[in-house]
Amino acid sequence: MNPSPDTLTRRNFLRMASTAAAATTAGFPLLSLADGLAPRRKLGVALVGLGNYSEHQLAPALARTKLCRLAGLVSGNPVKAAAWARKWDVPARSVYRYEDIDRVADNPDIDIVYVVTPPSLHREFVVRAAKAGKHVISEKPLAPTVADCDAMIEACRAAKVKFSVGYRLHFDPYHRELMRLARSGELGGFDDMVSEHSFRMRFDNWRSNRALSGGGPMMDMGIYVIQGALMAQNEVVPVAVTAYEEPKQNPERFVDVEESMRFTLEFPNGAVMHGGSNYDRPEDRFWLRAKKGWMDFPASAYSYQVKYCATSRGPLSFPIAAYPYQQAAQMDDFADCLLTGRETPVPGEMGRRDIRIVQAIYQAARTGKRVVL
Ligand code: NAD
Repeated sequence: MNPSPDTLTRRNFLRMASTAAAATTAGFPLLSLADGLAPRRKLGVALVGLGNYSEHQLAPALARTKLCRLAGLVSGNPVKAAAWARKWDVPARSVYRYEDIDRVADNPDIDIVYVVTPPSLHREFVVRAAKAGKHVISEKPLAPTVADCDAMIEACRAAKVKFSVGYRLHFDPYHRELMRLARSGELGGFDDMVSEHSFRMRFDNWRSNRALSGGGPMMDMGIYVIQGALMAQNEVVPVAVTAYEEPKQNPERFVDVEESMRFTLEFPNGAVMHGGSNYDRPEDRFWLRAKKGWMDFPASAYSYQVKYCATSRGPLSFPIAAYPYQQAAQMDDFADCLLTGRETPVPGEMGRRDIRIVQAIYQAARTGKRVVL
């Protein structure tokens, strides 16, 4: 007999759900439980790092989720954390300093820890959250090195918690249509791609400090170009890369990271992506030619709200009113994975895959040689 939602404790519900058959990853959004057997309470998310992305994207997105809620805060700034707690109604017992993050282990209100600090700190907080028995999401880029990624993945495996990378575009309708077209082969396969994702960095922060960022725009923005290419190639990784750093326009600001990177990804089927990323001019475009058609995101290709995509079949346009909040869909999907036992379509391994490609690009730029993956 299936218990009714009212007779389920949350613990029983999670146990029961984890044995449920894995749901399909097709379709959008992937909320197999949200509209039917809902949990007694929404899953609690603790944000680690209350900077720009947490403040302007993730916290507002959490207010729009169906299966999650903002339940905890981890910050190095008690004054900021207290203001957040008041604004978002988070009790004082669920507000932590970075050094106390391990204490989330004793907090039953927190199910998921979402790490939103500079990339070099992702590893430490992911490992500590996993050891505290919490499921984890880490922002992109997953970590500066493949070894860091491996340590994070292993910590989550050992703790039997789920681990996801914050790849919001996998929950965007335009990018899902791109993935659908790639899977179905309706356009005959994408074989020639050009893309650039860049912005003009006006103020210095951790992004130009290698010790915190792990690298320059290639790590920060170029990783979206890699994601786009792999979506178009059904997540098949490139076989080789070539790359070069453009001369620095502001060498005094970009001392130990690149200011600009241009790279080529070669795929096993012969497809090629010519990509670029830099910190000195805004660009956000993605053009793809397939054997029987094409797609063109002339602007906002990787933005929080993709506005338009032209295709050989006519314009692709999703009405703004029906456009999902990418981060809300992303977090709801992860919660749904926890509740159903389904695997996330954006696991830590996908973040690791892309760091491996980024590192090969850095090696190619450093050596001037084609690097085989
Ligand atoms: P930010 O500088 O605005 O915020 C970083 C936060 O980390 C701040 O609260 C800061 O106080 C804290 N922090 C802790 N230790 C720190 C240290 N030693 N040095 C500097 N800051 C420290 O940065 P952000 O733009 O919010 O980026 C945070 C993370 O989110 C990064 O991994 C970034 O790549 C990612 N991000 C993702 C997206 C996306 O679209 N998925 C967009 C923006 C940022």
